[in-house]
Amino acid sequence: SATKNVAIIFGVTGLVGREIARKLISTTNPKWKVYGVAREPDRVPLQSPDYHFIPCDLLNPLEARTKLSLIPDPTHLFWVTWAAQHPLDSQQCCDQNRAMMVNALDPLLHCSAGTLKHVSLQTGLKHYVSLREIANSKGIVGQRYDEGCPRVEEGFNFYYALEDLLKERLQGGRVAWSVLRPGLVTGNSSRSMYNLIGSLCVYGTICRRLNLPFVFGGTRDCWEEEYMDGSDAGLVAEHHIWAATEERVRSTDGQALNSVNGPGFAWREIWPVIGEKMGVAVPEEALAAEGFRFGAAMEGMEEIWGGIVAEEGLVETEIGDLANWEFLDVLFRFPIKLLGSREKSDRLGFTARREMAESVSFWIDAMREEMLIPREN
Ligand code: NAD
Repeated sequence: SATKNVAIIFGVTGLVGREIARKLISTTNPKWKVYGVAREPDRVPLQSPDYHFIPCDLLNPLEARTKLSLIPDPTHLFWVTWAAQHPLDSQQCCDQNRAMMVNALDPLLHCSAGTLKHVSLQTGLKHYVSLREIANSKGIVGQRYDEGCPRVEEGFNFYYALEDLLKERLQGGRVAWSVLRPGLVTGNSSRSMYNLIGSLCVYGTICRRLNLPFVFGGTRDCWEEEYMDGSDAGLVAEHHIWAATEERVRSTDGQALNSVNGPGFAWREIWPVIGEKMGVAVPEEALAAEGFRFGAAMEGMEEIWGGIVAEEGLVETEIGDLANWEFLDVLFRFPIKLLGSREKSDRLGFTARREMAESVSFWIDAMREEMLIPREN
């Protein structure tokens, strides 16, 4: 069939961006031409005659304008990128993420206003809470948020800045837009900032190599907490594509959708699955001693990692390309849990679900297949 749709994926080397690209190029009805934008190329690049990678720093307005205005007749945009040079709850973070989107959107709206049909933005469940409140809260509280929950007024949230920008730029036009709000994302990328699976895979590989116990380096509250929401990158990618193409879902007022797996998960259930998959022993008392921090425990492991990469013939990476210890240290001490209601998506007809245990195993295997971590032995 003829090429009908032309997608631009911003952040194509990230956790969800890669999956959107992969799914679109394997879709045949309609066929997609896919342009992927990211600052740097993927270490394991996608190969397809329908796929073109465009290296571009979206924080640079001139570069963005020059490169993006060359793309002929884009129909669908997927915004799965972000800048985190500043603290997440700061005005600068909002300004920077907004500037990044302005740099991409304005030249495209200028040259392709006639062909553009949909913009799909990704933010997250942090839409529903104030980061400042999280910092001050004691004990885990959980509430299931639906898409209609009002914004939290206090603090800054770059998610609001991005939604407001889309509202403003697409107002009164015929371009529809949606915003997807995932929870903790599981996926495979070596260009991601908050990469759960990558972090756990590097940690597990090092534990195995050095015979260290695979301890859960977080709080008892986090370990024992009942359920939280995960979001499989493949599922979120399907959700994006569905929201962008399903006529009865598309809306020029913006369609907000939580994007979560369905069944929640608990760390105490998932940890042994990860340990077994990684071939490391989870000790009887899986909690680390109080005061354990991944940042400190994994300090100075660069040489060990370099040795593993060389010996196993892995794709060249530094630890920081896959793992983010500060992220784990925050995540496993997170004082609140974020739960998103699936009711709206279910009602509108997106009913696919994923189990976290399956998702985790799937992505560990995907990292092995791409030779980012050692294969099982
Ligand atoms: P990611 O960090 O995995 O990928 C980011 C992508 O953007 C990469 O391709 C990177 O190369 C690209 N990029 C970054 N800066 C760029 C620049 N200046 N110019 C061009 N490309 C650039 O992305 P993600 O984790 O999927 O995050 C996307 C959104 O999802 C964010 O708003 C994030 O807050 C949200 N989110 C993430 C998670 C998670 O667990 N990672 C969970 C919930 C919500």
